[in-house]
Amino acid sequence: MSRIVILGPPGSGKGTQASRLGELWGVPHISSGDLLRAHVREGTELGRRARPYMERGELVPDELILDMMQERLSAPDAERGYLLDGFPRTLAQAEALEGRLEALGQRLEAAIYLRVPEAELLRRLSGRRTCPRCDAIYHVDTMPPKREGICDRCGAELIQREDERPEVIRKRLAVYAKQTRPLLDHYRERGLLHEVDGTLGVERVPGEIARLLAAAEGG
Ligand code: AMP
Repeated sequence: MSRIVILGPPGSGKGTQASRLGELWGVPHISSGDLLRAHVREGTELGRRARPYMERGELVPDELILDMMQERLSAPDAERGYLLDGFPRTLAQAEALEGRLEALGQRLEAAIYLRVPEAELLRRLSGRRTCPRCDAIYHVDTMPPKREGICDRCGAELIQREDERPEVIRKRLAVYAKQTRPLLDHYRERGLLHEVDGTLGVERVPGEIARLLAAAEGG
């Protein structure tokens, strides 16, 4: 039942929230960025083609993303629903997702927009540390690992992602404004958009999202 898109600029907390909600609701958290990074790590053909775009902070071409997502969404664990994080990121991707849902007789339940001011995004992204093995995310100030520099989940040494250097961060925010922000209107027009204050903190945002969805279902 829950087929939900989490929208927001880089650093808005999409990954963290989608991962928590996925656990809470028992549906997979599907992150296009994590899938792409796994391809890069494994050195697949897709990873090889996507990597230069990712390192520059640009979007990977739609056709590469669409094949990858089509495959992931067809996996058995996605049958009951999913939380999409980082996909769709262009109108063409949103339309492809709708086409797929329609063909399957399914529909999207909601698009949740995590709103966060730009200064806060910059602070968050520059302090972010990522686990190169399992993709867990930390922040040096607000969500530090239990042992400095070490992933709580799998014990690997944390890194600062290549695309979280300041100049690439600025590029990703500009790409978001130009290519992804138009999706907000797209989902608003379809009555699917719910806006959440992404600065409420990791503890309060999931509750706020659950409250909005319950209100939408009731109304
Ligand atoms: P993320 O972890 O979601 O910020 O994604 C990291 C990078 O992967 C982005 O900066 C893009 O280069 C690429 N990427 C992830 N998802 C998509 C998508 N849906 N469309 C195009 N590029 C994507």
